[in-house]
Amino acid sequence: MRLSGTAFPPKSSVRHPAWLDVSQVNSLDLVIDGQIITDDLRNIEVSVPVGQLPIRFHFPNGWMFVTERSPAIMTWLSTHKKSGFVDKLESNFFAWFFSALLCVAVVVGSYLYVLPWLSHKIAEAVPDYAAIALGEKVLQGFDEQWQPSALSASEQEQIRQRVVQHLEQLEELPYSVEVYFRSSNMGANAFALPGGKIVILDDLVKLAESEQQLDSIILHELGHVHHQHMLKKLVHSSVLSVGVSLMTGESSGIIDNLAGVGVFFLANGHSREVESEADEYAKRSMLTIYGTSEPMAEMFELFSQQEGMPVPEWLNSHPDFEQRIQAVRE
Ligand SMILES: [Zn+2]
Repeated sequence: MRLSGTAFPPKSSVRHPAWLDVSQVNSLDLVIDGQIITDDLRNIEVSVPVGQLPIRFHFPNGWMFVTERSPAIMTWLSTHKKSGFVDKLESNFFAWFFSALLCVAVVVGSYLYVLPWLSHKIAEAVPDYAAIALGEKVLQGFDEQWQPSALSASEQEQIRQRVVQHLEQLEELPYSVEVYFRSSNMGANAFALPGGKIVILDDLVKLAESEQQLDSIILHELGHVHHQHMLKKLVHSSVLSVGVSLMTGESSGIIDNLAGVGVFFLANGHSREVESEADEYAKRSMLTIYGTSEPMAEMFELFSQQEGMPVPEWLNSHPDFEQRIQAVRE
């Protein structure tokens, strides 16, 4: 059997019409312009057929013969066991199906596990100045809707002093903490911004019946600082390159963009998992500082008893917050 095609001399792209004689069992004859190159089949490298690409025969002396796919050559290749793995896969539906399934699994797995893991790593690597600048921008965003606190300077100072004292008894946080007071129509609430800023709304101070109850919520927010929840969420939500730019330098424009997303996130609350982590931190800290976490459960109950008030960030989307109270009391 003869296959027609094109031959190329060693290291040259000059085309020579040629044909290949494949009728012998152990050798191939390449015929170019009446000249014959013969070699043992074992010495000739045959390209693995992929899709509709032509098949290439590389001779040891450097000549290459190229021929289009044809039923004749595919038959010859399969009898000489040269038909490619990729080719077999293509014709095997199940292999194709499982490859597709594997692709889906890789994509889903990356989203569920790799991306969160990477977000954590990136958030941890974001320099403090970038996280703090981001927190400042988020606060500026909120301040367009918030008013200054109506609490007296001495009331504010008292709470700040308590936070300082508490922090001395706790594991060091990733950022130094700054406490801000604001008044807003967002109800009894507090927020942890990226970079260690905590904002306490007047209504939260009013709702708390004791210092310990108020502190339990502040400690919950410190839990968010401890876990860098906001920064991780922002990094996760953004394209990863954004996190990398925060890590590596020129980041002022990015901080502006992220700040808008941050305002939105804080207003809409965290996931249940993240809230549980912050609760857990607050509970542990309450036990360290006060020897009891009961005021935290009391505070949760006060929230549930409020009427006509907006539901705070850390209770919304959690209809099962009875469970949270239970977890605090366990
Ligand atoms: Zn929270």
